[in-house]
Amino acid sequence: MHAKKSFPYNRLFIFFIVCFLVIGILYVLSSQIIRHMTTMAPALFPVMTIFLMVFHILIASFMVMKYLCDNHRLYLMAIACAFGGSAVLMLGTLSSYSDWLLCTSISRVNYNDALIYYFFRNVLMSVLFITSIVLYHYRHSKIHTLRNHIVILSLIAGFTLFILVLSWLYASHYPGMHMRLIDNMTRKVSDLWQQYLVVGLMLCWCLTLGIMLAITKLRNIFWYSGYFFCAFYIFTLFLLWPDVFIDGFGWYQSRLFETSATLFLIFVLLCDVFTLYRESNTKYQNSYQNSIRDPMTRLFNRSYFYDTLKQQMTKVSPATPVSVVVCDLDHFKRINDSYGHLQGDKVIQFAARVLQDAVRNEDIAARIGGEEFALMLSGTDADTALAIAERIRKTLSSHDEHNSEGQLPERVTISMGVYTACQPELSPELWVQRADEAMYQAKESGRNRVVAWHKPAEAQVSPAIVPGETVAAP
Ligand code: GH3
Ligand code: MG
Ligand code: MG
Repeated sequence: MHAKKSFPYNRLFIFFIVCFLVIGILYVLSSQIIRHMTTMAPALFPVMTIFLMVFHILIASFMVMKYLCDNHRLYLMAIACAFGGSAVLMLGTLSSYSDWLLCTSISRVNYNDALIYYFFRNVLMSVLFITSIVLYHYRHSKIHTLRNHIVILSLIAGFTLFILVLSWLYASHYPGMHMRLIDNMTRKVSDLWQQYLVVGLMLCWCLTLGIMLAITKLRNIFWYSGYFFCAFYIFTLFLLWPDVFIDGFGWYQSRLFETSATLFLIFVLLCDVFTLYRESNTKYQNSYQNSIRDPMTRLFNRSYFYDTLKQQMTKVSPATPVSVVVCDLDHFKRINDSYGHLQGDKVIQFAARVLQDAVRNEDIAARIGGEEFALMLSGTDADTALAIAERIRKTLSSHDEHNSEGQLPERVTISMGVYTACQPELSPELWVQRADEAMYQAKESGRNRVVAWHKPAEAQVSPAIVPGETVAAP
């Protein structure tokens, strides 16, 4: 049974410290800037609103795309609706500044409507954030059926629509429903706003933050952006609380805080994308390597070897020859029979390491059969290929049970055949076949030796090669 993880109070403490620091710095900086301004540009507030609206649309689209990629993340759709609905409500705010696009001063502003949209925007977001956290909490339970998704998505979309319609009706579109939050003439906020609604909204966001912290337990960076978002909104409302006049600096500062919280969320989402990209790239690289390598020796596998030979075929010329070496361990059945298959595997792995260490990075060392290997040596002529093969043969036969760190139960030898292609006319299959023929001649002529392929009747043991000691020459 898993022990229940305790709440990470130390992280909570660090979060609050960082939050206070960031909010404090932003507040001091923005206050310093504002202090030097006598009046604000009339279009500043609508322009800031447009920026915020675009950011919210971005976040909403991002959440929807993330949900479409992984539909187990139903909780993201609540956040998508929160930001999507918020963007629509900001359109309402913009419509309250009816002539802001004219480059004259803005004369007709319906502050009351703007505040109503702001109020409903906060309600919508905090309720949908709580919904998202609850859905996140149940993400591993059996809620992920198509029917449940449709029901939950409909409820979320329905609620968003309900808030949008409600705010539209309250914002002087329906005489029967009206809320006076501000006097458009004096620009003074009402008691309803200052004594009840601001406090109510602050409590709403505190509740959202509390639930978010309790359920997500400061576990991942995505939710950190949520905590910052809530904390910034609480502070935003805190700034507006004492502002009796809507055009006070607090309103501009509040928008700055909203934008900062939103930008932080966008930054986290971007980090998330790059983390996912890095993870999936690593997974892709791993699975690609697994598809081209032999699992036991990590040498390349047969199909990759042939594919690479085919690619090399077109590049072959007398100036850039390609040599193919085919190798087979000698009397390997006896190793298996005497010491068992497990020990036999260790011998294969040891031989593979000797082969790999003997070639350059641009060469290919592959396991093409049980204890059969092949090398592709690009740009290597026949003499060099013979010398490389000979070096491998000597290295392998110089090891035994005493100097192989337990990998070899006794001395093991290898027979090798070399073919060098200088013209592109022959197929790679024929190259391997010829190297194979030379290898069989090495076997027939006593094993533990290297043979270069020559035209029939000309094939001969390379003069440079001294047959191994344990195997008699024919
Ligand atoms: P020769 O010198 O003629 O090559 O004799 P040999 O005994 O090596 O004969 P051959 O090459 O035909 O033997 C291949 C043996 O390799 C047969 C098979 O049991 C063994 N073998 C093939 N794959 C593996 C493997 O992955 N692990 C082990 N332990 N043995 C394998
Ligand atoms: Mg064999
Ligand atoms: Mg063999």
